[in-house]
Amino acid sequence: MSIVRLEHVFKDYTLGEQAVQALKDITLSIDDGAFLAIAGPSGSGKSTLLNLIGCIDTPTLGKILINGQDVSGRTPDELADLRARTIGFIFQTFNLFPVLSAEENVEYPLLQLKEISAAERRNRVSQYLAIVGLSKLARHRPNQLSGGQRQRVAIARALATQPKIVLADEPTANLDHKTGEGILQLMKEINGNFKTTFIFSTHDSRVMEMADRLVRIEDGQIVRQDVDDNENWTS
Ligand code: ADP
Ligand code: ADP
Repeated sequence: MSIVRLEHVFKDYTLGEQAVQALKDITLSIDDGAFLAIAGPSGSGKSTLLNLIGCIDTPTLGKILINGQDVSGRTPDELADLRARTIGFIFQTFNLFPVLSAEENVEYPLLQLKEISAAERRNRVSQYLAIVGLSKLARHRPNQLSGGQRQRVAIARALATQPKIVLADEPTANLDHKTGEGILQLMKEINGNFKTTFIFSTHDSRVMEMADRLVRIEDGQIVRQDVDDNENWTS
């Protein structure tokens, strides 16, 4: 089953008098459990696409289905609830709260899920900090952690709600190559172990190579899609 489906999606932004067509007629199905890279140069529409899949923004035209549900016509509250339960986010600048410790950052999105008790929250926090290898640094604040460690905290935070989908916008852009590779390997491991769908954007060709499926966008359009064996691509 497709965990994400976009049908003829367009996204325009208005900048003063000018309209920018950031996405033009995007049709895309993403299988549950995918490890998919969205590749393309700066300004090609990668962040816009992730924001639409993440229900942070809405399309100008077209249909988006998340987990089989059409998200158009949902109220902001309904979308916030869908996001909190279904989607985890990882950003290139990590976006951790600087005054909160690693464990408090991981706990934060769990506070939105009222059915999760305080005891369960504590379990989840230690479980996911352990998964990313940061149990010993749980009390550290972001400024006491390296870039790679901060991104690990962000991954634990994205996973703690046990989302179906994790969206990562250039997750390795602010890391050196070796650290970035470690982060991708960790994402890949989690994808293998939990069947969490990962959708990440990048313009680093070495990062693209780690994906099982690559969707290339240029100037707001899909120009190529392929899977890792390169046998099955359609343009
Ligand atoms: P975003 O679109 O996520 O806001 P950008 O892609 O614009 O971020 O830029 C992130 C960094 O990567 C910048 O330092 C930019 O100069 C660099 N960059 C942008 N496009 C490319 C590219 N095609 N190849 C290599 N580096 C790039
Ligand atoms: P990428 O992530 O690949 O760098 P973006 O999705 O950020 O690309 O941008 C796609 C296009 O949309 C670019 O031309 C960019 O300038 C424009 N754009 C993105 N966000 C906005 C916005 N909030 N307002 C106006 N134009 C935007």
